[in-house]
Amino acid sequence: MASSLGAILLALLGACSNDHGSNAKLPAPTAVTPQNSSPAAAIPAPPDSGPLPAIDASRAMQYVREIVGFGTRPIGSEAHKKLENYILSHLKGDDVVDDAFTADTVEGKFPVRNIIAKYPGTKDGIIVIAGHYDTNYPLRNVGYVGANDGGSTTALLLEIANQLRGKKRDGYSVWLLWTDGEEAVRTWSDSDSIYGTRHLADQWATDGTLKQIKAFLLTDMIGDADLNVDRDHSSTPWLEDMVLQAATRLGYQSHFFGREIAVEDDHIPFMKRGVPCADLIDLDYGYNNVFHHTPQDTLDKLSPKSLEIVGNTILETVRLLDRR
Ligand SMILES: [Zn+2]
Repeated sequence: MASSLGAILLALLGACSNDHGSNAKLPAPTAVTPQNSSPAAAIPAPPDSGPLPAIDASRAMQYVREIVGFGTRPIGSEAHKKLENYILSHLKGDDVVDDAFTADTVEGKFPVRNIIAKYPGTKDGIIVIAGHYDTNYPLRNVGYVGANDGGSTTALLLEIANQLRGKKRDGYSVWLLWTDGEEAVRTWSDSDSIYGTRHLADQWATDGTLKQIKAFLLTDMIGDADLNVDRDHSSTPWLEDMVLQAATRLGYQSHFFGREIAVEDDHIPFMKRGVPCADLIDLDYGYNNVFHHTPQDTLDKLSPKSLEIVGNTILETVRLLDRR
């Protein structure tokens, strides 16, 4: 995810020290605000008090370990194929569909496969929870494993599936979406990035699914032990407010929205089509984001507590959406 403003500013400064990640996601370095200065912090707690969500964070962390164990997982690789099968093997008995196609990129043609697991609710409408499972392609030969960028969210979605499976949902249907081809194959641009979601948003616009989506909750790079989820200016303000409201009910608010940036990520094709979106991303991975898109994106930087914070906040956000 590269914010163009951040990229431009860094280009002007000539300050891009991260040559591995030619397609690095860069935050716009403006609009830094003090912790919780957002007006959203003033939203009153909802009158109802549902049960508190509680994902199994150690199980989620175990998934990250196993996923990282496949090695680097860019589109077109053997390890990517293994990961597809790994994801599907954890969704046995669930209603799973995929959106598979061939992406024509500047590095050639690649198979891309979005995987969707559907958990039906009683209410008319869909909440999508998404995260990408491919890892950075340009770094495929340097021992890059993407523990946080790719690994953490793939695992978290599998754990959220465990929480949804077999329960009657008194609310909207929830669709979990493992997106593919999120990463650029060369340099992040509108045409070289988010291959999977650009395709899927088109599909869902054509088949009418898009009109049913009440909210699109995206997760990216949320395993960092030093968790600071950014407030994203490219997301929908009321939905970001609701995420903060959910985090606040759970006592996690100090991990949210200490900084405001604009992020390009898998939510953009849906934002463009009018779907309310919130991107939960921590683009401060190591001091000054130094671990992002480097071989240092490894398991030791991650914490199960961070997976728990984001997982529970998402489930609480779903509960608030159900009651909206
Ligand atoms: Zn990435």
